[in-house]
Amino acid sequence: MSLTSFDRRRLLQWAAISTGAPWFVPAARATDVDRFALGIASGSPRADSVVLWTRLVGADLPPRVPVQWELARDEAFTQVVARGTETAEAAWGHSVHAQPRELAPSRSYFYRFSALGARSATGRTRTAPPRGANESLAFAIASCQRWDHGHFAAWRHLADEAPDLVVFLGDYIYEYAPVAGRVRLHEGSGEATTLAQYRARYAQYKGDTDLQRIHAAAPWIVTWDDHEVANDYANDLADAAAPDFLARRAAAYQAWWEHMPLPPSSRPVRANAQVFDRYDWGALARFHVLDDRQYRDHQACQKPGRGGGGTVDLAACPELVAPKRTLLGNAQEQWLGDGLARDDVRWNLLAQQTLMAPFTWTKEGRFWTDGWSGYPAARERLLDTLAERRTANPVVLSGDVHCNYVADLKRRPGDAAPLATEFCGTSITSHGMAQARLDPALPLNPHIHYARSEERGYMSFRLNPQRLEATLRVVSDANDPHATIRSAARFSVEAGRAGAQVG
Ligand code: FE
Ligand code: CA
Repeated sequence: MSLTSFDRRRLLQWAAISTGAPWFVPAARATDVDRFALGIASGSPRADSVVLWTRLVGADLPPRVPVQWELARDEAFTQVVARGTETAEAAWGHSVHAQPRELAPSRSYFYRFSALGARSATGRTRTAPPRGANESLAFAIASCQRWDHGHFAAWRHLADEAPDLVVFLGDYIYEYAPVAGRVRLHEGSGEATTLAQYRARYAQYKGDTDLQRIHAAAPWIVTWDDHEVANDYANDLADAAAPDFLARRAAAYQAWWEHMPLPPSSRPVRANAQVFDRYDWGALARFHVLDDRQYRDHQACQKPGRGGGGTVDLAACPELVAPKRTLLGNAQEQWLGDGLARDDVRWNLLAQQTLMAPFTWTKEGRFWTDGWSGYPAARERLLDTLAERRTANPVVLSGDVHCNYVADLKRRPGDAAPLATEFCGTSITSHGMAQARLDPALPLNPHIHYARSEERGYMSFRLNPQRLEATLRVVSDANDPHATIRSAARFSVEAGRAGAQVG
């Protein structure tokens, strides 16, 4: 058995710091591999449970490894409230998804794992408030962390804010092959298409210490976008149409679940995974987490033999406005409508992938077909649902487009009063378009109050029964691992009055 360069390096480090034991003792090698090199995470918080995640690494792992976990009230683990053992199986990438239940609501907890004589770092997590409670909430939205477009300094700054919750809106990895000359490089030889390649890509991203830090700082609620599988994929079709796409989708979905703090019940079955879900924060808020990839109609007016999106003139693409076109699929649309009709929470937060506000590039109508503007009938149905069901304080949270947008959502374009408010957060690293390209289109889209395509970072929110406050947090330079952070803008939404106010 040969040592990888990583193993060799670790072994030499170990040999250098160890005294008394010869470095060639065979057993030393296994204990020297950092089994928890991919970090830890928590997520899917409920009032009485939370999911604790890790994934063991090492080429010598047995097919089944018992992994102990502990959850405590204090960082020193003197008050352990739950502990258990999960089996990390090779078939699921040696990932662990423990789900302690019967926890107290509104509580902070610390957790850690141990396996094969090693112990993980300690993470902090928390449960949601109980039903009916009106506690305030500090959370952030983030998306699009393309490895070779920058460093993850934004995550370090968010960890310093110690939010209650992180809501991740997609593009956790990018499937692309390595590109020479970038600030840092994707590993591997080509685009990820197999389970082994997707796992290796997650492992590379998960090795980042800033990403590990934010995972250890707060529980996450997650959804996905296209790059967890393939650029601009829609349902069973990717942009480069391939006959075996569903096999690729199955591999990608499996690797995604293996690396996310999701419960065992969310485990995909082949190319199917139910990602859409609701998370309650007492009576304050309900997150409606959506999946706009798996069930959507193909993008309108695709080039012959191709899938994926494009930018089209409305006049040349009547298909775009076909009334039956769906982005969420009928079952999810129905499920969402049912959830939006309930009147037991103050704020309804739609955590979903991409810009919902209409965005046209010309006076006559020119739209990008991969986003909501490529599915205007689906958007109209959703806005009608919000109006007809009198959904309390709807706020749409979005990502995907690598640009900070703050927008009012109107039921119909000419309406005076907004029906909902949208905060579309920019990318952690992924490049956006030039501001000079965006600027000429902004007067055509007056419902968009803020649009900055060259900012990288995340959005931080404070929410209470009266008010939602948003702070757009922007790094000084995504290419700089030591980048600083600043607040580029602040907006708020008053309960009972849709629309974003400055400040
Ligand atoms: Fe992206
Ligand atoms: Ca995307």
